[in-house]
Amino acid sequence: MKKYLYILFVLVVSLFSCDTSKKAAITAQPQIVEKSITGLNKKAKNVIFMVGDGMGITQISSGLYSNDNKLNLERISTIGLHKCYAYDNLITDSAAGATAFACGVKTYNGAIGVGPDTIPVQSILEEAELKGLKTGMVATSTIDHATPASFAAHNKYRKNYEEIALDYLETGCEILIGGGQKSFDRREMDERNLSEEFAKDGYTVVSHVDKTINEIDMTDVEKLIFYTADSSPLPVSQGRDYLKPASELSIKHLNKNNENGFFLLIEGSQIDWGGHANDANMIITEMLDFDKTIGAVLDFAEKDGNTLVVITADHETGGFAIQKGSKLNDLKTKFTSDYHTADIIPVFAFGPGEEDFSGIYENTELYHKMRAAFGWESKKD
Ligand code: MG
Ligand code: ZN
Repeated sequence: MKKYLYILFVLVVSLFSCDTSKKAAITAQPQIVEKSITGLNKKAKNVIFMVGDGMGITQISSGLYSNDNKLNLERISTIGLHKCYAYDNLITDSAAGATAFACGVKTYNGAIGVGPDTIPVQSILEEAELKGLKTGMVATSTIDHATPASFAAHNKYRKNYEEIALDYLETGCEILIGGGQKSFDRREMDERNLSEEFAKDGYTVVSHVDKTINEIDMTDVEKLIFYTADSSPLPVSQGRDYLKPASELSIKHLNKNNENGFFLLIEGSQIDWGGHANDANMIITEMLDFDKTIGAVLDFAEKDGNTLVVITADHETGGFAIQKGSKLNDLKTKFTSDYHTADIIPVFAFGPGEEDFSGIYENTELYHKMRAAFGWESKKD
């Protein structure tokens, strides 16, 4: 509705600024007027969805004020807020939070791509695959951790990692980059070697043991799994530095022979872990790593013009606050919790369809808004 009011507004403004001889033509061809407004009514060919796990307003502020008062996030002007609570708890976890984004349902904490009744719900990533788009997931946690898992697996419980990894065989993502190699090829629940099965299915499977992200040659690669660690990847402070190059490699690959578009999930997973550990330095370094990646993604989206970038968090972690005595690049911080909080969460949107992301809405709306940006038929009741 808002969109139509906006178009009407634009139309009225245009009519007043034209002489009478042009009025009829513009009334008859409103699409000419619409075209002049950035993003308005234009479909997104590609969607890049970026989740900073645990990235509330204070996490963003701490990154900003520890980085000479600047962030790449500031390049985005369309901003909204989402209500992150879960079906069964005002305090969400990452599984319920990501399932809301991925599948458009509020569910219970711990649920991976299933509703409150534990029945699987198709995700936007799976729907994209079925519609012939390419898809990918990049994370700084294990790749079968709750946030990415909710986009490409269905399980009643987030910690069933080996079952989640098995689901990825069916999803068919063109790119999977993250830790967790052991749930794929040293499994306890069965004797299967999923790395070999993925390879048979056309994947190039690369381990951190053999190559760094910059050493991967993507010529002739159709689908890629890159395990960045055996279990959890290191924090930035201990030398992890793949999120930006992995995101750039993914975008380049998904955009190659890109006829139908792509959906890419990028997660800065460890901002949350800094919150759980009540470690302000970890929050800041992980936040800035995520923001550096945001910069690279926006560089692509600005040039491309057909890509919607949506950046948000599943929830805030730590009840993090910046205290008196803080100075630029020297913050005094405190935590009120070692778990998640119920703060409403910022959403940043850039590209075709961005105008739909301003306002305050439920976390599940992000699913519907991204689908709408693709131009897919609404699934709302
Ligand atoms: Mg996560
Ligand atoms: Zn957490």
